[in-house]
Amino acid sequence: RGKDLAGRLNFETLEHNLARLGGDEFTVLLSGTKSAINIGKVAERLIEAIEVPFDFDGKEHHISASVGVAVFPGDGNNTEDLIKHADLAMYQAKKKGKGCFEFYSKEISNIVLERSHLEQRMRVALEEGNFKLFYQPIINSKTQEIASLEALIRWEDAELGDVSPGHFIPVAEEVGLINAIGSWVLQEVCQQLRAWQDSGAMGLKVAVNVSGKQLEKSDFSDQVLNNLKKHNVPPDSLYLELTESAVIHGEEGVLATLRNLQKIGVKIALDDFGTGYSSMKYLKQFPITKLKIDRSFIMDISSSKQSREIVSAIIAMAKALNISITAEGVETKEQEELLEKMACEHAQGFLYSPAIRVNDFNNLILAKLQ
Ligand code: C2E
Ligand code: MG
Ligand code: MG
Repeated sequence: RGKDLAGRLNFETLEHNLARLGGDEFTVLLSGTKSAINIGKVAERLIEAIEVPFDFDGKEHHISASVGVAVFPGDGNNTEDLIKHADLAMYQAKKKGKGCFEFYSKEISNIVLERSHLEQRMRVALEEGNFKLFYQPIINSKTQEIASLEALIRWEDAELGDVSPGHFIPVAEEVGLINAIGSWVLQEVCQQLRAWQDSGAMGLKVAVNVSGKQLEKSDFSDQVLNNLKKHNVPPDSLYLELTESAVIHGEEGVLATLRNLQKIGVKIALDDFGTGYSSMKYLKQFPITKLKIDRSFIMDISSSKQSREIVSAIIAMAKALNISITAEGVETKEQEELLEKMACEHAQGFLYSPAIRVNDFNNLILAKLQ
């Protein structure tokens, strides 16, 4: 395809060298231009040329490329620095999505440095046991009793201070630490469930957030099963919360894993519903027993008729499909009343309680049992 591509690229007057660095990484060395506009145009053309579908073995194939640019001498005055900086810019381009390009900048360098520091601190946290689990109650709207709990990870780092999961989980996914963190979360929850059930809270259920990267592991359902067995926890005490993107990006393997989990008796909840593709296809295809309506809809149900209509439609649809429903992020009485009117079964949010540490729950749960 090389010649074909070179023809289509039409670099015009720019002198260029094309090299393969290894694997799926290529380098274009351009000379004779100082203009960022020209370089950007070349990057765009490269991306477009690569995106043209091609025939292989009688089948049409599509590929895409991400391009990072480093300019001599500002971004480096030797080969090593230029390649390293182009590489950093390429990773940043990849993050924007498929088929994008990005110029190297000091900010990019800072982002990458910050990430690698975060990665290193996460490794330390895993080794030293610095991650903690907090639990947030999910309330039965009719009885106002605790229906279940959601385990939410917390991390206070000696150097970085409190780091929110919204910040470090995506990085853990990117650098491949999410499986180690996820395994720790699973075993910690199973151990805690056992302890709670031993102290009399037999029917207590706990939901665990699971990343798409964990689901992609072919032994994920075995991992769940082993943890349940090890701690002698009934499988129906465990909910796994997945986001739509976790399910969507998955291949057939993910579907098989979800079906295995369902067979074991573990329940699956779809988290942040409404923020992703909200495709009805997934509700039909995947063994989902619960939908959690994203906080962004609940946030303005008091002020926006449109949000009310959306929430009400999601509830009606879930009912028709025999899927249970939880409203996330309920903060006010007014929201609670509106949700009750819509016959939303469960609610979770600061109105009831934020995520709190295990000891505080022990007091709450055990007090209720006496
Ligand atoms: P999520 O699973 O949708 O969790 C709900 C988030 O909303 C939590 O944030 C919770 O503290 C927050 N929240 C609950 N009620 C309210 C409310 O009334 N108002 C507002 N403003 N916020 C509320 P948190 O703990 O910061 O977690 C953020 C996200 O990080 C979670 O979203 C989840 O996707 C992810 N996460 C947390 N723990 C884990 C974990 O153990 N594993 C994985 N893979 N992801 C996790
Ligand atoms: Mg969740
Ligand atoms: Mg959520």
